[in-house]
Amino acid sequence: MSFAAAQSLKRGLLAAGHYRRVLRRARFPGVVVLGYHGLRGDDRPDGSMPFENLHLRASTFEAHCRVIRDTCDPISLDDWRASLAGTAPLPSRPVLVTFDDGYRSVFTIGAPMLAAHGIPAVVFACSDPIVRRALLWFDAVAARDGEAAVEPWKGRDYGPWLVACARGTQTVSETDARALMTSEELGILSRQPGIEIGGHTARHPILAQAPLAVQREEIFDNRAALEAWTGRPVRAFAYPNGRPGVDYDGETVTILRDLGFDFGFTMRQGFATPGEPALERSRFMVVAEVLAPELAHRLAYAWPR
Ligand SMILES: [Zn+2]
Repeated sequence: MSFAAAQSLKRGLLAAGHYRRVLRRARFPGVVVLGYHGLRGDDRPDGSMPFENLHLRASTFEAHCRVIRDTCDPISLDDWRASLAGTAPLPSRPVLVTFDDGYRSVFTIGAPMLAAHGIPAVVFACSDPIVRRALLWFDAVAARDGEAAVEPWKGRDYGPWLVACARGTQTVSETDARALMTSEELGILSRQPGIEIGGHTARHPILAQAPLAVQREEIFDNRAALEAWTGRPVRAFAYPNGRPGVDYDGETVTILRDLGFDFGFTMRQGFATPGEPALERSRFMVVAEVLAPELAHRLAYAWPR
């Protein structure tokens, strides 16, 4: 079957309530943690921003919310904590929505949709670009040198990377789709019921490329800033880029443990099963080309279990 034919079939199955019927009888082997990044308005033309696949169309995300609400059991991190504490068991098909990086679009487009559908979420935000009103380093490098120039920097040492990539002085326009939230917006978002703010380092370095003291500083300073802006404790963390053993290592995990974090999220693809370490939870990354029928199909069948 061609890709287009498969897509059209899945659209029909979703509209006919097929996935809802299948999932009603299902029990997940762990939590489905969905890893989103940014969102973008439906009116933005295709190809108008770098790393576009990380920014879902507003209508796509709205449709995702409906699928999650209709077929699964959206949970918050506090629900998960309660289940670990033995207070209340998790539902049969727990889904936790997460957003990495701190894009403003999560505040302007995502937060109202999450509220309307009663879906909790965790937003992992970097702090240094928020302070500087700057782009995240990979968006800045992509704008300066092209998208392909970003990947090689992920393999270089922290020192040269910091100088070349993470100290730009250009201020981002407030209407730019790549803009991060302001500290005030992050504070407002943190007070929306069901929303939790988590750490994602100050500058989004590849932690494994940094000396231990610098890793600790990136994690500690980020948490201090987020806690000052929100007035709430920051207990969860998402590793930048998130590949275990590549983008962070065992020493990074030890730092998180020493600092008292209780959840750590990677980009390892899979269900977050009860047996995996609390500070190295798996997720399923979600990109813009995953439309709602495809999300439903993956929830019902395609994600390995
Ligand atoms: Zn990130």
